[in-house]
Amino acid sequence: MLNYRRLSVGLRQATTCASNVFLFNTRQTKHLSFKFSSGYFQRFYASASVTGQISLNPPRRTQHGGGTCSSVSKTSPFRSILSARSLSLSGPACSKVEAKASKSLLDLQPNDFVDFMKEKKIWRCFVVYDRKTGEVRVSHPELTELGDFARDDRVDYDKHEAMFLEIGERSGCLLGAFVWRTNRGQACGGIRLWDYTTMEQYLRDGLRLGQGMGVKSALAGLWAGGGKGVVQQPRLGEHLDPNTRSKIFFDYGDFLSSLNGCYVAAEDVGLNVRDLDNVHMFTRYTTCISEEKGGSGNPSVATGKGVICAMEGALDFLHMGTLVGKRIGIQGAGNVSTVIVEELLKKEVSHIYVTDCHMNRVTDMRNRFPGTADILQVEKVPLDDNGVLAHHCDIISPCALGNVLNGETIPTIQAKIVCGAANNQLGCPSDNHLLKERGITYIVDYLANRMGIVNCANETYGRLPDDPAIDRHFGREWENSIFLMTKKILKKAATEDITPVEAANAIADKLSMDLHPVWPHRSQQIIDSLVENKWHLQKV
Ligand code: NAD
Repeated sequence: MLNYRRLSVGLRQATTCASNVFLFNTRQTKHLSFKFSSGYFQRFYASASVTGQISLNPPRRTQHGGGTCSSVSKTSPFRSILSARSLSLSGPACSKVEAKASKSLLDLQPNDFVDFMKEKKIWRCFVVYDRKTGEVRVSHPELTELGDFARDDRVDYDKHEAMFLEIGERSGCLLGAFVWRTNRGQACGGIRLWDYTTMEQYLRDGLRLGQGMGVKSALAGLWAGGGKGVVQQPRLGEHLDPNTRSKIFFDYGDFLSSLNGCYVAAEDVGLNVRDLDNVHMFTRYTTCISEEKGGSGNPSVATGKGVICAMEGALDFLHMGTLVGKRIGIQGAGNVSTVIVEELLKKEVSHIYVTDCHMNRVTDMRNRFPGTADILQVEKVPLDDNGVLAHHCDIISPCALGNVLNGETIPTIQAKIVCGAANNQLGCPSDNHLLKERGITYIVDYLANRMGIVNCANETYGRLPDDPAIDRHFGREWENSIFLMTKKILKKAATEDITPVEAANAIADKLSMDLHPVWPHRSQQIIDSLVENKWHLQKV
């Protein structure tokens, strides 16, 4: 017999799986959402609507010996995908499911959620974690469901200190700020502008990314906590209109000012430096503004150099020497890859093979490094072509998309090391075990690509040429440098017979608990004061 409650939960979990993979990616998300909606996760929905039997089977590629995508740990910084394995439900056609689901706030499209808020005359709301009582508190009784969602969630919610939501006054857009853990300082992380299908996707993305930023910053030794801004795209693509776009980011600036600095924003998917300049017009709590205004500018150079340091750390740990004479395969010929190639040529590697799905990027790279054809080979490939991962070389460097390391690609990898800039390279947590089983050393993405956030993290402290606050990440003296941290993580993984991801997560999680040496609990105090002073009622 159909159990509606389980059915509803099951579909939500399936959606969660899909949305997590779909949202793992940054700049190229649309491609991936298409890929998955036509394949990997589509099975959940297909079996529900076509046969009337809902059978949520784990995708084939999760079934490797070392673990499955069903593993969900409340303490793991990247517990990303919830189990679908245990759900085997049957019942009539899905229309009833949709009807039931439509009653939930979590299933509302975020712009519809804005309409709901307006109807209730709610302009701002919050969900906060009360660390004294261990309870989740919600600003409005009408929004209890948001608090229940956080309290009951075992996937993305991890005692996040706060989620703040506001309707932008000029734009009418849903603005969100997600604060994970602020022991190390103000929550820092980029603002993402995206078109979410449901409020659940919207909230999950903010929660997951906020935590991801927290562990990345902690591992980088930054005195920053984990935070993320999420803005729902307005209907009908209005954000593409320059005037509307400015309004959105003016609103976000106001929103940040109202939060009194518990969250400091940066740039993420869907934004450009001009958007951040617009945010900055209305708040001091943002970074990543243009160089003319005192910002840090393009982070790709620092990011590329950081990836090189991680490669060197891995080679050193594995007693494989230096980069001299090594063969490297790189996916993507974009901004970061260009820097990586430049550095690799300086380091006298013997062979670099780069692929990109855009001919202009291929041409740009070829033109950028004339006279290197004996070493550098750049090729255009179809969008779905991951063949570069199987290239005969020492190191593979994914620098295009996320989710490229999965059950299909990992068995083809010949390289000993995988180390690239792309965010969320693993298709799911179990792929991490598959890499280990195959004897491939994977350098955690948030270690290798940390310089993106490091580059803008200390913007407000002024600028220096050859800034030591940046350069120490590339050196070999500072214990948190990329080189030494890579070795530390790999050593821990080897000693404890765990994967490098598990080792990195454990180290990062522990570091994220350290208190800021000068301003311990400052952001937490700010959050407390916002609640106490009824921040949610201050906008009418
Ligand atoms: P980019 O957009 O400049 O380059 C990405 C390149 O990948 C593009 O040339 C694109 O055509 C190519 N590409 C996309 N899909 C491909 C496919 N299937 N096969 C081959 N090529 C493909 O981006 P970037 O700034 O160089 O960043 C690269 C990656 O690193 C991204 O995943 C980004 O999120 C991540 N990252 C970048 C920074 C940074 O400072 N730029 C910081 C942290 C993380």
